Amino acid sequence: MKTGLFFGSFNPIHVGHLIIANYMLQFTEVEEVWFVVSPQNPFKIHDTLADENHRLNMVRLAVADNPALKALDIEFSLSKPSFTIHTLHHLKEEYPEREFILIMGSDNLAGLHKWKGFEEIITQYGLFVYHREGFDNQYLKARENVRVFDAPVLNISATFIREVLQANKSIRYLVPEEVENYIKENKLY
Ligand code: ATP
Repeated sequence: MKTGLFFGSFNPIHVGHLIIANYMLQFTEVEEVWFVVSPQNPFKIHDTLADENHRLNMVRLAVADNPALKALDIEFSLSKPSFTIHTLHHLKEEYPEREFILIMGSDNLAGLHKWKGFEEIITQYGLFVYHREGFDNQYLKARENVRVFDAPVLNISATFIREVLQANKSIRYLVPEEVENYIKENKLY
């Protein structure tokens, strides 16, 4: 079964992420999308990064009503810092019947060649890239295992959502209602 992996800090998850995940389910042969939540990096202090368990819980709440979406905490227990290629190998071992591909915005392509295991990621797994305004998606386009999609992309970010909260304004419609309530209940951001 083709399974798309969407990596991120999801601090918090927002409708921009969910729109992309559902686009992949509807318009590609991906049958499930898994959100791989990045762990806290013990060597970096982030005052704006919510605890990994809170971020995981929010992803769980956001995907709870969709059986094709799943929240993954696999990187919490792998060695840190997390390398995507290690995570992919672990997932492949744990789920040998699945075919994993990475879902990413074209904003991530610029630095991709510097990633550990870059060639392996492309040849053994593959990339589904969605176009993000202002970011070139051409240079990998010709490669086998890389496909570029013109998905509807909402111009919002988790950073923006945190800023809205900081300004005591409402984040209604930017995140699922359950996530909004979770943030309030746990006084995040
Ligand atoms: P932050 O503002 O804190 O950097 P973010 O909203 O960019 O967060 P991440 O958790 O870093 O979210 O993102 C995970 C993945 O989702 C990344 O590949 C990122 O490029 C992508 N992404 C972020 N926002 C959007 C959006 N509005 N539409 C589509 N993809 C997005």
